[in-house]
Amino acid sequence: MMLTMSVFLFGCAHNAKEKEVEGFITAHVEKIRPMEKAAALASWSAAISGKPEDYDKVSELTLKIRQVYSDPQEFAFLKDVKESGQVKNAILARQLDVLYNAYLENQIELELLRNIVDLGTEIEKNFSTFRGTIEGKKVTDNGIKEILKAEINSFKRRQAWLASKQVGAAVADDIVRLVKLRNQAAQKLGFDNYHTLSLATAEQDVEELDRIFEELYELTNEPFAQLKADLDRILAAKYNVAITELMPWHYHDPFFQETPMVYDLDLDVYYEDKDIKELAAGFYAGIGLPVESILANSDLYEREGKNPHAFCTDIDREGDVRILCNLKNNESWMETILHELGHAVYDKYHDLQVPFLLRRPAHIFTTEAIAMFFGRLSRNPAWMQQMLELSDQQRAEIEKVSGKYAQLKQLIFARWDMVMYHFEKQLYANPEQDLNRLWWRMVEKYQLVNKPQGRNEPDWAAKIHFTIAPCYYHNYMLGELLASQLHHHIVGKILKLESDENLGYIGRRKLGEFLSENVFEAGAVYHWNEMIKRATGEELTPKYFVEQFVK
Ligand SMILES: [Zn+2]
Repeated sequence: MMLTMSVFLFGCAHNAKEKEVEGFITAHVEKIRPMEKAAALASWSAAISGKPEDYDKVSELTLKIRQVYSDPQEFAFLKDVKESGQVKNAILARQLDVLYNAYLENQIELELLRNIVDLGTEIEKNFSTFRGTIEGKKVTDNGIKEILKAEINSFKRRQAWLASKQVGAAVADDIVRLVKLRNQAAQKLGFDNYHTLSLATAEQDVEELDRIFEELYELTNEPFAQLKADLDRILAAKYNVAITELMPWHYHDPFFQETPMVYDLDLDVYYEDKDIKELAAGFYAGIGLPVESILANSDLYEREGKNPHAFCTDIDREGDVRILCNLKNNESWMETILHELGHAVYDKYHDLQVPFLLRRPAHIFTTEAIAMFFGRLSRNPAWMQQMLELSDQQRAEIEKVSGKYAQLKQLIFARWDMVMYHFEKQLYANPEQDLNRLWWRMVEKYQLVNKPQGRNEPDWAAKIHFTIAPCYYHNYMLGELLASQLHHHIVGKILKLESDENLGYIGRRKLGEFLSENVFEAGAVYHWNEMIKRATGEELTPKYFVEQFVK
């Protein structure tokens, strides 16, 4: 516990309004705390059993929590106090902000909300049941992915790519309707549109995000163009077409969001005879952030009916933190367990003296950043050499491609995320505009991918995130930026190293100490950018991401 925070937490004198708020918070926490724990436990059980009745229980509990936050009288009280400006005590004001936002996003009137949820569910169902066709034959998403990875013939690649976009035409009108409904809800709450509402309740500011994305755009323009030119030369040769004739279907996934498999290296061989759970546990213990108690509560291996993905959950904000994985001894699960344990140590090492409402990560993207910071190690040559006891020659082999691959992966993702961020912002600002054209303008500008001649289809609508995770995609990028900013700060200021060459963070207890004291303990006591500034001396900036991946 830092001294400064103790003072911050307890050094307070209350006026009448503050006392009222304090009373409200006490009653609220008493009510919500057991409900959230019950919901977290139910959701954990459902993920493990896969039983529909368990999922029903989750929906029921989630709905009850939502009902608490939709109460109009309580919201009116919070709004009134907030606008009075009388809550001066910082820790109370923070809790008030967090509560206000939680209530605000749940103030959509019931009938409108029902329409939004129903239409969203309908579109999602269409997504999961729709199958594209190639020459009249149905093809699965995995089938399309296979073709885009391995097929040499451009005509067949084109067919697969076109098949991947057919779902867009099937759902586009509904998505536009959904966007308009969401906007209607936001406008009733006094916002321009749903995008600005979402950002506001997530304590993000459009102008600030615009500035970060603009800087990232400028800084990556030239290096991305160069890297992409190298990649295009390889792809053009491989598919036997002129570089100028490269089309979206020549990249290896439907949106060019992933790295084409041209520089990749099979790292699985180094992991196949290791126990990745033990590696992860040993690594975290070595940096002073032991995870034994987390792993003991976790569910780590495949089972019938179990959720095939991975996630981390904080059950009670009192130390019962668990991860769900389906571990296999390969590189991708090494990355995943390091990633999920990154979320887990953030939750686990909150200071228990921080009030319940603030005992959570500063922001969804700050916990993503910590997870990414650790997840990146599974491909780090220095980390691999020491953890896996590799020879210098093996390490040299990994190094030959891993740097290039990481660079390509990060740049491709950054440029793709710009498409998503800017398109979505404009989608909500004006859903009546020519969205097909807007999409391709974004793709050409940020990804430097050619629009197929005469193409006028809702290719954007084939991205499910507009439906199921609206106004969220930019957080992936912010997470990467923060992971790099923390890395830069820790290398230079905490470990006092000249460079990150040879750094795998193994046994670096100062890393664990720094993250605990500057990021984890405070939870959401500070606004995310304030936390970042206190931890690194600067607000969030894309500078260090560029420094790390653009060389
Ligand atoms: Zn994550």
